[in-house]
Amino acid sequence: MQHKAEVAIVGAGIAGLKAAASLVDLGCSVVVLEANDRVGGRLKASEVAGRVVDVGGQWVGARHTVLLEEARRLGIDTYPQFAKGRTQLQLQGRLTRFTGDVPRMPLLALLEVARLQRLWARDMATVPAAAPWTARNAREWDAMSLESWILDHLHTAGARAFARIVPRGAWAAEAAQVSYLWFLDALRQCEGFGYLMAVEGGMLDAKFMGGMHQIARRLAEELGDRVMLSAPVRRIRQDNAGVVLATDQGEVEARFAIIAAPPGPIASIQFEPHLPALRDGLQQRMPMGLIIKAAVAYPTPFWRVAGFSGQVATDDDVLGIVMDDTQDTGPAILLCFIEGEEALAMSAAVPAERRRRVLASLVRFFGPEAAEPIGYDDNDWTREPWTHGYVGAMPPGVMTRFGAALREPCGRIHWAGTETATEWAGCIEGAMRSGLRAAEEVARRRNQ
Ligand SMILES: Cc1cc2nc3c(=O)[nH]c(=O)nc-3n(C[C@H](O)[C@H](O)[C@H](O)COP(=O)(O)OP(=O)(O)OC[C@H]3O[C@@H](n4cnc5c(N)ncnc54)[C@H](O)[C@@H]3O)c2cc1C
Repeated sequence: MQHKAEVAIVGAGIAGLKAAASLVDLGCSVVVLEANDRVGGRLKASEVAGRVVDVGGQWVGARHTVLLEEARRLGIDTYPQFAKGRTQLQLQGRLTRFTGDVPRMPLLALLEVARLQRLWARDMATVPAAAPWTARNAREWDAMSLESWILDHLHTAGARAFARIVPRGAWAAEAAQVSYLWFLDALRQCEGFGYLMAVEGGMLDAKFMGGMHQIARRLAEELGDRVMLSAPVRRIRQDNAGVVLATDQGEVEARFAIIAAPPGPIASIQFEPHLPALRDGLQQRMPMGLIIKAAVAYPTPFWRVAGFSGQVATDDDVLGIVMDDTQDTGPAILLCFIEGEEALAMSAAVPAERRRRVLASLVRFFGPEAAEPIGYDDNDWTREPWTHGYVGAMPPGVMTRFGAALREPCGRIHWAGTETATEWAGCIEGAMRSGLRAAEEVARRRNQ
């Protein structure tokens, strides 16, 4: 089967869908080619104890204006993240419970945690938004991992452990696996440590009634038969006249292509002519953070009665982060994030074993009632063939050498996807803004 459109978009994640919607508004004909048999990519729904839950992206930050505007347009309401009560922080086997923003730690460690935030804020402020590889200290910072920085700058075991849970909790990446420069840029993209970690008014401010995934589904419904499912793009050929994309459902001819997929899956597409070495090299060097997200349902939010917010952060448990996801009606839910090296180990376990280990952890934090859920489901993102994980991160040496290729068009091929964003990269907001930016690039060329 042969299709024709002005612009072919690879990937019906939120970036590809937003790019398509924006081009359609400009009167441009588009086709969106999606490898999976569903839209949404890293936005995905599941059902636990009769309630629809997001097993992919879910929180909307208070400053995520594009996403909030889209939801408003679609008539989808938010509900606030519950955060009343005691938070639990377990570092290196030491469990503390506290209210407010300041964790309970030995004084020296606490002072170092405050210092590390000042140092990160200072260094982050010198990283230019659209070109972090041009920062004054770019070479030095990109030559070291975040772990090397931690070992050089922090001396207490508590502050070191605290610093290591930041990349794991935010990007499912280990401190030893990301460059300090990439980490600073990722922090900058999320407006710094304070905003990244904050619930009320911050990154974890709210969620959508009925789930985040429905924003992708609704956008795809509006695009109608412009979206082709089960159509993985295997090969892209381009010349002066246009692009031809070979999918499992036939070929698509277009004037331009926008690739809106994570770096790993893009690397499996065959390009003719071959992509420039810089772009090709980038795709091979941005591994995805490893994550499994579990939703555990109970008849009531018993932890609230015991004075807990439901929020847990740990560095030495199978669970990295736990959050309350209870709404006014329906079952009470705890969301559990298994990240980084723990995700690698748990991905090898059979589902029943994963469930057993998640429940055992919840019992340690919330007591015996946690052993009796009425529903459980988890999604192992390391096994999603068209995504591979959470978000593409850069190990040492990649940003300064290959970063410039992130958004640079290759002939008629333009790049979108959250990893290419200059603001809110890694987030749904960044993905949407990247789609808008790529659509604008193509719209400008279309009129030339
Ligand atoms: C567990 C989890 C929790 C998260 N939580 C949050 C959160 O709370 N808040 C937040 O802001 N962000 C969160 N994120 C991140 C957020 O979900 C992503 O940043 C965003 O959804 C990425 O959108 P995208 O369109 O760039 O990429 P994707 O969603 O990955 O879309 C890319 C699409 O391309 C398709 N594709 C790949 N290769 C091909 C091919 N060859 N041919 C055709 N199609 C192809 C894929 O199937 C996919 O549908 C989370 C992510 C995960 C995994």
